[in-house]
Amino acid sequence: MSDNCEKAYITTPIYYVNDIPHIGHAYTTIIADTLAIYSRMAGLDTFFLTGTDEHGQKIEEAAKKRGKTPKEYADEISSKFKELWDEFDITYDKYIRTTDQEHKIGVQKAFEKMLEKGDIYKGTYEGHYCISCETFFTQTQLVDSEFCPECGKPTSVVQEESYFFKLSKYQDKLLEWYKSEDKAILPKTKKNEVMRFVEDGLDDLSITRTSFDWGVKLPDSVNDPKHVIYVWLDALMNYVTALGYGKDEKLMDYWPARVHLIGKDILRFHAIFWPAFLMSLELPLPKHIAAHGWWTRDGEKMSKSKGNVINPKEVADAYGLENFRYFMLREVPFGGDGDFSQKALIDRINSDLGNDLGNLLNRLIGMSGKYSEGVVSSENVDKYYSKELKEVEESISKLEPLLFDMQLHRYLEELWRPLSIANKAIDNYQPWNLMKEGKEEEALALNGLIANILAKVAVMLHPVMPKTTQKIADALGFIINNNSYVKLIKNYELLDKFTIKKTPPLFPRVEEQLLNEPEQKENRVQKAKNDKKESSTGVITIDEFFKTELKIGTIIEAQEVPKSKKLLKLQVDIGEDRPRQVIAGIKEWYAPEDLVDTQVCVVANLKPAKLMGMLSEGMLLAAKDENGLSLIRPEKPKSVGTKIS
Ligand SMILES: [Zn+2]
Repeated sequence: MSDNCEKAYITTPIYYVNDIPHIGHAYTTIIADTLAIYSRMAGLDTFFLTGTDEHGQKIEEAAKKRGKTPKEYADEISSKFKELWDEFDITYDKYIRTTDQEHKIGVQKAFEKMLEKGDIYKGTYEGHYCISCETFFTQTQLVDSEFCPECGKPTSVVQEESYFFKLSKYQDKLLEWYKSEDKAILPKTKKNEVMRFVEDGLDDLSITRTSFDWGVKLPDSVNDPKHVIYVWLDALMNYVTALGYGKDEKLMDYWPARVHLIGKDILRFHAIFWPAFLMSLELPLPKHIAAHGWWTRDGEKMSKSKGNVINPKEVADAYGLENFRYFMLREVPFGGDGDFSQKALIDRINSDLGNDLGNLLNRLIGMSGKYSEGVVSSENVDKYYSKELKEVEESISKLEPLLFDMQLHRYLEELWRPLSIANKAIDNYQPWNLMKEGKEEEALALNGLIANILAKVAVMLHPVMPKTTQKIADALGFIINNNSYVKLIKNYELLDKFTIKKTPPLFPRVEEQLLNEPEQKENRVQKAKNDKKESSTGVITIDEFFKTELKIGTIIEAQEVPKSKKLLKLQVDIGEDRPRQVIAGIKEWYAPEDLVDTQVCVVANLKPAKLMGMLSEGMLLAAKDENGLSLIRPEKPKSVGTKIS
């Protein structure tokens, strides 16, 4: 590629080697891969980075438990990620590890530069430290003044000498950036969360540790050997050290990143710390930071103890890698949470892929074989089917912006419209009747329309299903590359001619496969036996439903909870001799004064719980989606204490 060609630098997070790859890792990586394949096809000079994050106390401890050195342990897990991506045909250009020598040099260079700039100073850090999350928390952030707000484990008070990064200095600049770059953080709901957090004020950031050893040392010029660099500064720097920052900077032309893809759990690090570090280093900021949500399974959170963790390799083996890719990207609104169920996956394969796409290709193969020995020309398509062509063009023109806004589910939804136009055209015009009626030109032109629609869809689906779409292109007799992309997509043209080949069905009907290791299956069987009432479909009886006592209540008092960003303290009258105190996490969406004298639905027989030291004696029903939270209320006023059924 020439130097003046537009660049697209696409990254996944580097994955922390404390866990083997799961569906969340696969999801992020597959999105990034899709963007990278698209960018290459569209002629952008593309660089796609993934890798592993290998330092920190957690790794040091995990290695010790297994009788290994941290490096041995990191090697083992890092290679598991790399193997999976290779099996998944992920088209990364570089696989970085934070234990790479070049990376360490780059991190030390960055530390020196920040120090020279006056952005780093030495001090003492005292804080509540969670070993598991490797994060210090302030008193107010703790749950029940002791437990980690992220993972719920107990924290301990730790005091240590530390170097600090002047994060506070960048507060205003960060806010300016969020405001001026509308799409810097995607989806936008997440951007608002970040802005609120920064507006509340940023503390300087402790960026070195002395309590463990497994990390990048300070540069020799600082001469303070007991410190290692905090894992987040170390990790985030990978995005530029992979391009040679601080050493051999010939790839630095790729900076800034077009997009950093991340999970929402690490948004704060990427949307606050990382741009502040970059500002300090006087490097340009990334174009987009895009955060996706979680995966649940059959509506439940996945966890090792439940034995319901999805092994992405197993799903890909059972249902086909590219079908799995399509499912993941199609099923979840980007940024929202997604649910994995085999039923949903099977529906997508049999319906979207099999019926809408696969059958259309079969119909074309059949018709073109019968009417014109497989040769299909685009002559006369515009003469008879200009309306359909215009509709297809409209759909196609919407696609690219959706992709780069990370609206992948909408991208695929929109991409299915041309298929539906094609399927409908066959049903409406009935080429077999056209042939009977002697309207051969019209019937052959319809084949031309179908072939061109399939070709356009194959090109745009290519980044999601690279091999499958090559098979479609083979069957149609063309090649998917930058030329066909420009002709079919950018210029909205038609291919002149197709030579259609017979091809075996691309999406044979699938049925449910058994997933999970045998041991886990046994666990699930056991769980089902233990809980006889719970049927396998998740259906409950009416008696089970009525175990939950739901009542109408009126909020008679609402107050803010000091030092809490989320909680409100409410007094709710549910027709008992005294109001119930309910601590509700709704402060982000409701002002206390707007709540008083309004009605709500209360779960009245919930075991009381303590939140921030206050008793909560019930729960309000509410619904939350990406646009925020809404309380569930009776449509008309009801007397307090009315049972909901
Ligand atoms: Zn924690």
